[in-house]
Amino acid sequence: MAIRSRIARASDRFGPPPDTVTLVAVSKTFGAAAIVPFLEAGQRVFGENRVQEAGDKWPAFRDSYDGIELHLIGPLQSNKVKEAVALFDVIETLDREKLAVALAQEFGKTGRKLAVFVQVNIGEEPQKAGIAPAEAVAFVTRCREVHGLEIVGLMCIPPDGVPAGPYFASLAMLGRAAGVGKLSMGMSGDFETGIAMGATHVRVGSALFGAR
Ligand SMILES: *Cc1c(COP(=O)(O)O)cnc(C)c1O
Repeated sequence: MAIRSRIARASDRFGPPPDTVTLVAVSKTFGAAAIVPFLEAGQRVFGENRVQEAGDKWPAFRDSYDGIELHLIGPLQSNKVKEAVALFDVIETLDREKLAVALAQEFGKTGRKLAVFVQVNIGEEPQKAGIAPAEAVAFVTRCREVHGLEIVGLMCIPPDGVPAGPYFASLAMLGRAAGVGKLSMGMSGDFETGIAMGATHVRVGSALFGAR
């Protein structure tokens, strides 16, 4: 697959061995006809940005394919936490204390303990979700120590229209300071830059599935 070989090449050039970068195939808006060929080819890690859409699509795929790992990459409303915890394996978009509380409660109730990334508003853009960079390290600590969440990494969506590299580098430094091992950064247009800056997860949609 062309994207996999580009990931491998970027990893060889810049950093960790290729199998340490996880390709999260972002299948939002696409239906079974588009997704099944990727499942058949062995892709198992997918990202969806809406809880309801994921609920309509993924239970049936899980019945037919083993080992699917589904990531929530869009905003999570508190009233959708129960449904999201049942559906997803990884939450990439923890962006506020109230949601940390709700997730911890639901994990306790169900015994499901999902891996969680904290979303950082790395460009400090008012229209974007995420914890402010200056508060990210303290927030990760609080999520762990107060709420008992397993925070595995940081995630960001950098500003449009400017080079992403400096933002990815900032996220990597915050990740080191917070003591998390994983960084979800890089989309179709900039995943090689993300890998250059230490991404462990790249979220690629249109380069795999075509334009939305
Ligand atoms: C849609 C989306 C992606 C994938 O974007 P492409 O440009 O299609 O690769 C990645 N991350 C998030 C949070 C998204 O919403």
